[in-house]
Amino acid sequence: MTFEEIGVAPEVLKAIRELGFENPMPIQEKIIPILLDRNADITGLAQTGTGKTAAFGIPIVQQTDARSSKTQVLILSPTRELCVQITKDLNNYAKYTEGLKILAVYGGASIETQLRALKAGVQVIVATPGRLIDLIERKAAKLSSVYRVVLDEADEMLNMGFLDDIKKILAQVPDDRNTLLFSATMPKEIRAIANKFMTNPEEVVIGERNATAENVKHFSFTVHARDKYLALKRVADYYPNIYGIIFCRTRKETQEIADKLIKDGYSADSLHGDLSQAMRDSVMQKFRLRNVQLLVATDVAARGLDVNDLTHVIHYSLPDDYEIYTHRSGRTGRVGKDGISIAITHLRETHVIRKIEKLLHISFEKTKIPSSREICEKQLFHFIDKMERVEIDHTLIDTFLPVIYKKLDWLSKEEVIKRFVSLEFNRFLDYYRDAAELSEPRDDGSGGEGRRDRKSRRDRDQGERSDGRRNFSGQTEEGFTRVFINLGKLDDLHPSALIEMINEHTDGRKVPVGRIDLMKSFSFFEVKSQAAGPLIKALNNDVWYRGNKVSTEIAQSKDAMEKKKWGKDERHPGKTERQFGNGRKGKKKW
Ligand code: AMP
Repeated sequence: MTFEEIGVAPEVLKAIRELGFENPMPIQEKIIPILLDRNADITGLAQTGTGKTAAFGIPIVQQTDARSSKTQVLILSPTRELCVQITKDLNNYAKYTEGLKILAVYGGASIETQLRALKAGVQVIVATPGRLIDLIERKAAKLSSVYRVVLDEADEMLNMGFLDDIKKILAQVPDDRNTLLFSATMPKEIRAIANKFMTNPEEVVIGERNATAENVKHFSFTVHARDKYLALKRVADYYPNIYGIIFCRTRKETQEIADKLIKDGYSADSLHGDLSQAMRDSVMQKFRLRNVQLLVATDVAARGLDVNDLTHVIHYSLPDDYEIYTHRSGRTGRVGKDGISIAITHLRETHVIRKIEKLLHISFEKTKIPSSREICEKQLFHFIDKMERVEIDHTLIDTFLPVIYKKLDWLSKEEVIKRFVSLEFNRFLDYYRDAAELSEPRDDGSGGEGRRDRKSRRDRDQGERSDGRRNFSGQTEEGFTRVFINLGKLDDLHPSALIEMINEHTDGRKVPVGRIDLMKSFSFFEVKSQAAGPLIKALNNDVWYRGNKVSTEIAQSKDAMEKKKWGKDERHPGKTERQFGNGRKGKKKW
């Protein structure tokens, strides 16, 4: 069917063609003729991204009398963002419809401007319920000539507690109006509204009820609850081109996860209700422009976001309501593209997965979290691929090339490639070289982690290095030697300074450093055994750190360490540890 065939008028047709609408989307094919022919009430079970705005918007533009200045159509939306979006869309469809005025009315913006606009006369009001009530009470919004009401994202309006406001508003609109209700989910409360406020509504379901898009693949990773964040990082690293939303359950969790990702160097931001409107607007804009790859969001806040062409949707927490799962995962796999929906779950959530599978007739592929090697491989190939496709600006680069060739003359082609890949890739190699693989918890019937899992988790937790890298602890790793150093946190020693110090004293070679344990006044670190002897010798050769002479030796038993610690202070009775190094000057400093 074409837009002409379903009755769209030439001036609207011209406008939507300019927007690139060639043919009606299924929801438009169903709803536009109903509204143009017989003005029936409709409940539409449809998510954003299905084309529902044009489904109700095109008939509104076409059927509203632009010669009358009376308000004839009212569209209610839960959020300011959606309100603005709908207004923008309708104005686009009305580009060639003379005299049609569409006004967005929402809280947080100047009421004076809205009052003035209403006074001048608008035929279509797109409003959030709270602000509209305010304007009705001020007698600025007059709804007695409204012939059509649209309740958009009705489930969300309900979730946000707008039911009483909606009832109040509908009481101002003539009873013989035409009512359209759109909702991504159809819980019984929405059905109750439909029964109460609509007349024999026709039900339009887009796609199979509760069905998720066919081209969305569903994956689930089961990890220990404590490993969820590490699993998330692995997922993000495994998909270098990821552009996705990470759904969390609470505002607090949303902020925490976003903060951690940002700290760990990911292109991420958060979107939740604790942020001011201006901050939310800015985050959404950054995400729309793809300046941010990963948006950590709550369900409610994400509703205001009109981005549906995600590569991935990640469920950091699974929703209680399986319909919300449909809604979330519907943001990926759009228009012929494949989408990926990933649930990161712990054992206690596996029953939710089973429930979603049953209710939505989908199946989750239960996969292992990508291994360090798989991630490194993926990142490496992504990088090489990018390199192959890079655009070369010959006019600029060619002038530099002779000098560069000359400088690299001494390296073979293979060496150049190796170095150039390392340059870009060391961050990943460094992280994943020591990172413990995430073990899958085993269901031992205890309803949670098994004993063995708890133990291995404990081991890993202890092995979490303060620079975020992991390493199994308990014993010194094979091939590594544990070294004692007489500096600790009180001496301002931190892992990166220690690593830097080690690198400085290994003849310019980077020796692999294992676990680092920073104590108050002394510390331990592990280095590759071959490097340990020369390193200890070098560090004991008049090296100073923040006023303290460095002393290292191969770590002994715990008792010996205790003695070392006391020995350090005994040599300077009467001085606190802090004062110990003050005022000294040394040959080498950090
Ligand atoms: P909505 O579900 O209203 O948020 O619309 C989703 C997206 O589809 C919007 O970006 C619309 O501009 C676009 N769209 C709506 N109808 C059509 C159509 N018939 N052809 C192409 N794109 C459309």
